[in-house]
Order: sequence, then C-alpha cells, then structure tokens
Amino acid sequence: MRPSAARRGYGPAWRRLRAWYLPRHPVCVECERLGLAPDPRTALEVDHIDGDVTNCALSNLRTLCKRHHSARTARDQAFVRSRRKGVNPR
Ligand SMILES: [Zn+2]
Repeated sequence: MRPSAARRGYGPAWRRLRAWYLPRHPVCVECERLGLAPDPRTALEVDHIDGDVTNCALSNLRTLCKRHHSARTARDQAFVRSRRKGVNPR
C-alpha cells in the first residue's frame, strides 16, 4: 500500500468493505445505465458517489468498472482544479 493511497482514506477497513460490497453489487452502474454488456476482463471498483472517500455509507457507494471509474475520477479532478482557480463550472 502506497502512503498516498492511505492518506486518501483507502486503508484496511476500506479494503474489507470493498471485498464485501463487490460480490453483492457485481455490475457497473454506468455500464448498466448505458446498456453495455459487462466485460469480465474489466476490473470492478467501488466508487464514492459524493467523492468523499471517508463517507462509506452504503448509500454513498456504487460499483463502477475501471473504465468508468477512471473517467469519473478525471472529471472530479478537473472540477476541483477549476474550483481552486475560482471558476464556476456551471
Ligand atoms: Zn462501466
């Protein structure tokens, strides 16, 4: 485990929750929404809906495949950067 990951809140408790959550929610919500066939080669990840990794309430979690999770993370980071510059993204 890299220290940077631990600082973001991904500790042992998160890994346990993730291991519990994924078998119960084995489909990427975004693939399902788009009607894409699940690709068994694509790793599934658990996403925090509000972007707060310390908020592990089940209502704040959803399954995303690696592809959709990466796309979402990139969007979130762009959003944070634009907020830091004081630009209203809306
Ligand atoms: Zn997906």
